[in-house]
Amino acid sequence: MPSPSIGVFALQGDVREHLRTLTDLGVDAFTVRRPEELARCEALVLPGGESTTMYKLARAFDLFEPLVERIRGGMPTFGTCAGMIMLADRIKDGIVGQETLGGLDITVRRNAFGRQVDSFEGDIAFDGFDGPVHAVFIRAPWVESTGPEVEVLATVPSGPAAGRIVAVRHGNLMATSFHPEVGSDDRIHRYFVDLVQKS
Ligand code: GLN
Repeated sequence: MPSPSIGVFALQGDVREHLRTLTDLGVDAFTVRRPEELARCEALVLPGGESTTMYKLARAFDLFEPLVERIRGGMPTFGTCAGMIMLADRIKDGIVGQETLGGLDITVRRNAFGRQVDSFEGDIAFDGFDGPVHAVFIRAPWVESTGPEVEVLATVPSGPAAGRIVAVRHGNLMATSFHPEVGSDDRIHRYFVDLVQKS
């Protein structure tokens, strides 16, 4: 199968880590800052970072509407952390006027894990994987509720947030609250590349 062309939204966030992981998987991966670059994408990654800034920059760089259109048109898209917020149809604890690109039928809560424990890591089971993934959460959102077509791929196994949903898939869209681009486990990116190749 030819390697897919996957863009990484690059106006803000941990772009480099996604590019490296995708490139190592043999993907033609490149940065997306302009509508012409988006037009080249078969699929897109929305990285972790700060969703409020991403939203403002996407507007300022005339990428917001083209992104909404491509996502509605079925472009496979994978959001991590802030990227999950960008893909969510509904958002809690956003800043006033914060908009999302939408497409994923979920409600997310920003910075949901609380200020004291805003960064933590742990091993969690991921649907269909043999062993757990080591998940790094940094001021992460969680998924507060999901629509009927959304598949839950991972939940927090224990602790105060036990049972909270932290990875989902809805058709060609997928999202994680944590950062699979950090570290050397590429299984979640491979899962996305498979989804792109099957779409
Ligand atoms: N708290 C950030 C936001 O609201 C997300 C943090 C992250 O992507 N690591 O966008």
